[in-house]
Amino acid sequence: MSPLRPHHPLLPLLAGLALIGCGGGGGGTDAPSGSTQPVVSGNVLDYPFLGTKRVLFLVVEYLDEPALFASTPDGLSQVQRIADTVSDAYRVDSNGRLQLEIDIPWPPLLIPRRASEYDPETSQVHIRADALRAAKLAGVAVSSYDREVIFSAKLWNGAAAHGWVRTAWMSNTLERVVVHEIGHTIGRPHADFWDGDPLGPGTLVRYGDLFDPMGTGQLWNRFLHSSAPFKLRSGWIQQGDILSVTQSGTYQLAPLETPGIGLPSALRIRRDNTSDYWVYQRATEPTLADGAVIQIASSNPFDDLILLDMNQGSPGDEAIDARLAPGEVFDDLSAGGISIENVTKPGDPITLAVTLDPLASPVTDVVPIVDVLSPPREDPVSGVVKFAAAVDDPEVGSLDGDGIDHVVLSILDAGFDPPSLVTSRTVSAPPFEFTLDTEAAGLRDGFYIFQVDAVGTDGGSNRIWYRVLLDNYSKTLP
Ligand SMILES: [Zn+2]
Repeated sequence: MSPLRPHHPLLPLLAGLALIGCGGGGGGTDAPSGSTQPVVSGNVLDYPFLGTKRVLFLVVEYLDEPALFASTPDGLSQVQRIADTVSDAYRVDSNGRLQLEIDIPWPPLLIPRRASEYDPETSQVHIRADALRAAKLAGVAVSSYDREVIFSAKLWNGAAAHGWVRTAWMSNTLERVVVHEIGHTIGRPHADFWDGDPLGPGTLVRYGDLFDPMGTGQLWNRFLHSSAPFKLRSGWIQQGDILSVTQSGTYQLAPLETPGIGLPSALRIRRDNTSDYWVYQRATEPTLADGAVIQIASSNPFDDLILLDMNQGSPGDEAIDARLAPGEVFDDLSAGGISIENVTKPGDPITLAVTLDPLASPVTDVVPIVDVLSPPREDPVSGVVKFAAAVDDPEVGSLDGDGIDHVVLSILDAGFDPPSLVTSRTVSAPPFEFTLDTEAAGLRDGFYIFQVDAVGTDGGSNRIWYRVLLDNYSKTLP
């Protein structure tokens, strides 16, 4: 086994950018003097992924199953090409704020087991553990990496590839799928398309946003840009790049792809208590560049984004020209009387006249904000696990529990579709937490969801989902 072949040399941190540690939602432990309740300083929706991140590409083979790549120099250059493309894609999408440094131990790692021995219910977690152990035995400092992408024969149920917590599992070698699965490991759901009347009948097309790596990838190339809500959550654009529209006016937009030029990258308009309209220009997409796309994003990081069709009856894929074209108007009279008109003049930045009807009943409730304190966002869990959240209603206060009537903490088994309830606790005062002995409870290794339902004293509620990877197998390995 030869040592690591670095995919490219270590790059210095981009000037002015600090490395963000594990778990973007990890705030909330600073207690003000005289108080024992932590301030809810984070929001589970935010998951900064910035600076230099180290990624391990692990190509594995089994006693009875070959690797997805030949163990030849050709095989290695094939993996390196994928690594280059994935790294480029994230560099472009993040405007240089994220640098993936990808290492490829070579030749493929032999897992000294038969592929046929794995139980497809638990195989993903066990393959991950076995692959990391094989890498460690080969001299790789596996704990110094932020993510791992495992290329393996498909020995699991469901989709060809998955991303969960900090790991992507690939049973194919498609670059766009690697980009997509890494997207799941940084907290992203899918980018869907509503094919039909934006406010009426239609069909939700899963992955139907052609322009986002979390969609189908039909238009995929390494220069594709993520949707504005994803960029904000990852820290690739800033809160200051987003304009929350609370009054009527005419607003101009910077292209999504080039933030920070003195105009907002996106408008955010409240749609209901738990979702917003996001309005922005995809300037590098020829079929969208003359207008603004309108997308729905919710307060649960697990809820898919939904691109709306502002231009129905298109030839080919309905989503291809979904933007609000010049001269067109989108009205949602139910959501506080919103009207958005594209009034762009030739040669000007995209210009939108937004009218919020003062007579309509506006969306006024601010729902509770949820931050997950435990388990850490990027670590698998085992044994006795503490699940903890900090929650407040910002209309009432910023201390944990302010304005909160009760919180329901649940664990769901994501091995089922829809995920099935494992256990649940209702807590009426901080700390909002419970511990679960995963072994005593007989939970199998796999993918789980920590669900937090926060209910405010004003009746407003918010539900969030948080990915959990249960691995009681690793500690049994020699
Ligand atoms: Zn996916």
